[in-house]
Amino acid sequence: MRIGFGYDAHRLVSGRDLILGGVKIPFALGSEGHSDADVPLHALCDALLGACALGDIGTHFPDTDLRWRGADSRVILAETYAKVAAAGYALGNADITIVAQSPKLAPYIAQMRKNIAQMLDCDVSQISVKATTEEKMGFTGSGEGLSSYAVVLLEAI
Ligand code: MG
Repeated sequence: MRIGFGYDAHRLVSGRDLILGGVKIPFALGSEGHSDADVPLHALCDALLGACALGDIGTHFPDTDLRWRGADSRVILAETYAKVAAAGYALGNADITIVAQSPKLAPYIAQMRKNIAQMLDCDVSQISVKATTEEKMGFTGSGEGLSSYAVVLLEAI
């Protein structure tokens, strides 16, 4: 078994869609980034790569590469998981936390779990997505940005 941890944060700006866990969430602001800046998916990718000691998302999907400009992070996750499979591992389970002051994410959690399970070809019971605020403290609390943490356990195939 291998364990991996990932973290990501993006600035919230106007004129961008807010896409979290593959769900487009109605909100005045969206996350800024080279790709679609899906923060929990990026944290999850880093956890998967970390578990295999394969580096990080920035190494494999550099923001200098035009291929990833505006990219759907679901594609980045699928390519990441292909690397995990090639290394001889499959997902045991993933636990993801999204930190955002607003909007309220509870209505979208089930769809995020479903999306991620589909992308990783596993059962939805293997995917946990949670959301929290930081009680108006720090950059998530002020609404300047949002962040996400992810932990995964991989099992040898
Ligand atoms: Mg990112």
